[in-house]
Amino acid sequence: MTSKVYFMDARSDSADTSLIAKTLTVFDAAGLDKLVNEGDVVAIKVHCGEWNSSAYLRPVYARALADRIKELGGRPFVCDTTTQTYNPYGSRATELDLLETASRNGFNATTLNCPFICADGYVGTSDYRVDIPEGYILKEAFVAQAIAAADVMIALTHFKGHGMGVIGGALKNLGIGAQSKRGKFNVHMGRHPKYGAGDAIDFHPESFAGKEKDPDWTILEDCCPLSLFEVTDNDELKWEREKCINCLGCMGIMNPRGIFRPNLENFDATDAAIADGALGVVKAVGPDRVGFVTVAVDVSPKCDCAGFSDVPIVPHLGVFASTDPVAIDQACVDAAQHAPGIPGSLAEEVGVDAPGDRKFDLAGSSIEGASEQTTINTAVVNGLGVREHELIHVERAGAEKFRFPLDRRPTRQRFAKLFEKFQPFPFDRYDTRGFNRLPEVDLDAVKGHGGPTVDPHSHADAPYHGDGAWHPGMEEAAGHSGMNPTDSDKAGTPAGDD
Ligand code: SF4
Repeated sequence: MTSKVYFMDARSDSADTSLIAKTLTVFDAAGLDKLVNEGDVVAIKVHCGEWNSSAYLRPVYARALADRIKELGGRPFVCDTTTQTYNPYGSRATELDLLETASRNGFNATTLNCPFICADGYVGTSDYRVDIPEGYILKEAFVAQAIAAADVMIALTHFKGHGMGVIGGALKNLGIGAQSKRGKFNVHMGRHPKYGAGDAIDFHPESFAGKEKDPDWTILEDCCPLSLFEVTDNDELKWEREKCINCLGCMGIMNPRGIFRPNLENFDATDAAIADGALGVVKAVGPDRVGFVTVAVDVSPKCDCAGFSDVPIVPHLGVFASTDPVAIDQACVDAAQHAPGIPGSLAEEVGVDAPGDRKFDLAGSSIEGASEQTTINTAVVNGLGVREHELIHVERAGAEKFRFPLDRRPTRQRFAKLFEKFQPFPFDRYDTRGFNRLPEVDLDAVKGHGGPTVDPHSHADAPYHGDGAWHPGMEEAAGHSGMNPTDSDKAGTPAGDD
């Protein structure tokens, strides 16, 4: 079996080849418009980005999709979910945090022209449990309530790398991003007897340097929401590991100090579970009611959930759409593999910058040995989709379709009367030329890559020096242009209502 993946590259030279237009074009080409019936509530699932990340998809992609869904008769909302918390200073761990971070990143009802909501409630316990007997490792999933309640879901995914998931694609947008907070604990192997961090992590308390040598030591206790770490008066670090729920809040604190040695199986099991979580979402919404649009630009190595965005590891790849989340992720991984790595990026640093190199095993994952195929392969095993795909290159849809929709009249019809009433060009000045400018200058003199070839003050005979002030006594000099100013032309004199 082969799935179809609809694709347009990232080059752009016209309104209908803008990435926004291409996103809508592949959406329609893949038949995702047919998923939406009159009156359907449509969840558009995005990653709104952590505080201070900058590579997440600009909100205009979601806005354009929401507008399209309205055209189709649907009722869209854009959503994301709370985090586990993942780090001690997370910015999306409650609904309040999420909405404020999302708004700072540009996602709100005003920009999106539809509501932006936190899909799993204030703390992240608002969800819908679904059985997944087909799951490879998970047998149930906890899907964010607002997503499970929607008639249709469109996963609008930013394709990039991820420290734990290796890739951040459509499967991860569902398998982590559309799970509630407790659903995320499930996927991250919280309290799993073999793969959970409490059981799996190699713990080296002797690596703690002591309070005196580690002045930031209080964070060792403060990073855990369950207060499982204690630094004793004797500088001993204790961990009640049997109670750990895998929130990951301590990893960024313990790993750099050598207190934790990350466990590959914990990563691999989570990556497999992401595929099962994704299956849970498709089952919760309905197998024929979920569509996937992936925008592979700004392909940063460490996801939008980090509070930063590194140099992209490959050039913009393009936009993809499909009804198969496995095929669309495989198409993105293949495109990244065939692309050259970007000089100066992490891809170059870790030696995977040649076309043909797999990019994410080393540049995405934060642990050696993880694979960019684990989630994809697991989603084949649990029946969610297939890797084999036909990549269909979609033609541009025509500029007419993507003209400014709020006023489609050409400029004369829109502006002739307006310009008559509020003339923006000062025809009444300088013999209708409008402005005080020299009639001719040596343009070649300022084009040299080595700097200008004229003296900085060689234009000093101009009465107006560009410094905002009129230079008295220079009026004569202006005569060489034949454009003598009148009093009302002089700078500082009101020229009209602006
Ligand atoms: S010990 Fe477990 S529960 Fe506590 S911060 Fe670390 S991962 Fe989270």
